[in-house]
Amino acid sequence: MHNVVIIGSGCAGLTAAIYAARANLKPLVIDGHEPGGQLTITTHVENYPGFPDGILGPELIDNMRKQAQKFGTEFKAGSVSEVDLTASPFKIIAGKDVYEAKTVIVASGASARLLGLESERALMGHGVSTCATCDGYFHRGNPIAVIGGGDSAMEEANFLTRYASRVYLIHRRNEFRASKIMIDRARANEKIEFVTPAHVEQILADGNKLVKGVRIRHAETNEPSDIEVGGVFVAIGHTPNTIIFRGKLEMDANGYLVARNGTRTAVPGVFVAGDVQDHRYRQAVTAAGSGCMAALDAEKFLEGHAD
Ligand code: NAP
Repeated sequence: MHNVVIIGSGCAGLTAAIYAARANLKPLVIDGHEPGGQLTITTHVENYPGFPDGILGPELIDNMRKQAQKFGTEFKAGSVSEVDLTASPFKIIAGKDVYEAKTVIVASGASARLLGLESERALMGHGVSTCATCDGYFHRGNPIAVIGGGDSAMEEANFLTRYASRVYLIHRRNEFRASKIMIDRARANEKIEFVTPAHVEQILADGNKLVKGVRIRHAETNEPSDIEVGGVFVAIGHTPNTIIFRGKLEMDANGYLVARNGTRTAVPGVFVAGDVQDHRYRQAVTAAGSGCMAALDAEKFLEGHAD
């Protein structure tokens, strides 16, 4: 029987583990299908407080993991396939293993949707990014491309004009999912050029394996063409990793878990932290902050329900 089982090993889960372990709760972290979470697919992180020279995303996560281990966190590889939150102790099933827990912290994160191109995968963190706030700064003075037609794409395109010399907003249709105000703002921005309707076929790399352009195909003419850019921001939405919680925990219309009164859910003893409950901020530091809150909430819960 575990005091705390933490589902997910990104920034939120690891911070929850550090706090729970220091409270002597001996937490168990189940890594999930993407151990370390979204920070493992970024390169430099320059906005995480405490690192004036920046730090590599995988290194930051590795440090958090070591810190959690140092205080007695146990880690298990694998993904949770099913949970039973109907009665205490809760049951967490990962493959053939069943874990029982007095409290559960759900920190299973959200995954950025990707185009699914081989070149996108190969150049991720080397000019391809899913986070303008994280990586925009690296593209000062360069032309860049933003892919997508929703509010995220409009917002990122506008934001990136602070750094980029030109932003090509590439979208597969002439109509946009984004709200009118966001489209109008992007259209009014002289640095943004709309490229529609166009499909991205390939992200092009230079000899140093850094992005040098995108190959697109115009949907109406079927003509291919290349656009020279130094960075590609894929902004086609995020998917919260919440399938296993359907019908078990409250979700919003987009599948994000709903936290109330701090990190609490409607199930006493089950807490949520990080991007799985946050489609707004999505930052490493906010995920870490909510991981800390969830561990403190779980600790309080356990104190009130001591065996
Ligand atoms: P979204 O609204 O789901 O839009 C995703 C966009 O990506 C769509 O234009 C879609 O094209 C395109 N797309 C999806 N898969 C694609 C693929 N495989 N290849 C090419 N294009 C693809 O996602 P979002 O923009 O991240 O927004 C999510 C939610 O957050 C929305 O409710 C949004 O309003 C909200 N949000 C609000 C703000 C704000 O108000 N400041 C900022 C960001 C996000 P199609 O349209 O052709 O399907």
